[in-house]
Amino acid sequence: MRRKIVAGNWKMNGSKDLAEKLVGYVRSEAGSLDNGVEVVIIPPAIYISDVVAQAAGDLAVGVQNVSGWQAGAYTGEVSSGMAVDQGCGYALVGHSERRQLFGETDEVVADKVARVLGDGLVAIVCVGETLEQREAGDAEAVVAAQIERGLAKVEVSQWERVVVAYEPVWAIGTGKTATSEDAQAMHASIRKVLEGIGAPSKDVSVLYGGSVKADNAAALFAEPDIDGGLIGGASLIAEDFVSICRAMP
Ligand code: 13P
Repeated sequence: MRRKIVAGNWKMNGSKDLAEKLVGYVRSEAGSLDNGVEVVIIPPAIYISDVVAQAAGDLAVGVQNVSGWQAGAYTGEVSSGMAVDQGCGYALVGHSERRQLFGETDEVVADKVARVLGDGLVAIVCVGETLEQREAGDAEAVVAAQIERGLAKVEVSQWERVVVAYEPVWAIGTGKTATSEDAQAMHASIRKVLEGIGAPSKDVSVLYGGSVKADNAAALFAEPDIDGGLIGGASLIAEDFVSICRAMP
């Protein structure tokens, strides 16, 4: 089922204090959201249990990354099974920062997606082109290849737990968001690619990420193929994050 989702990716930011205050505030406000949006908080792994405690079942919680391995001698890694054990319902996979800074290839993404889905989580799979690729006219082809390869191991019964997040790399943390029209065009293209690989494309939620703020969220979320947002910087400011959640029609 296609869902409306607003997810806050804290990246490597936050503290126990933020987990308590921000999540407590968002939870108290979430009760008055009447737009059916699923609110997801995605803190650094070490704060997951603090966030789960504050969320008290009213907000969903996600992990930013998981290991491609299930368990064993992999010092520093966290498995998707552990994320489930701690109360997570979601996992980000293939964020552009992991692709660019930690060398994650589409093949690694495909393995992690399989692991995450196998453990019962919803996978939010991130795709997006660089500025160079967009200027060369390759944006749609780059994103199509990331989807085809990254989702290559999804089984038919698992599509209902796949969410795609389109995050153009040039829009992340730059204050330069894609126009609603450009984002809509890419989301429509993503749905075609999903259809081409046998996914129930009309039922897959496709989120936009990249400098989403309280003042541009409504225009983005009004587009027919944009089902929500993956929010970085603005998810660290409680009032801004709640405003973005309220911007969903
Ligand atoms: P910003 O909202 O800070 O641009 O970050 C977007 C992002 O990367 C979310 O995953």
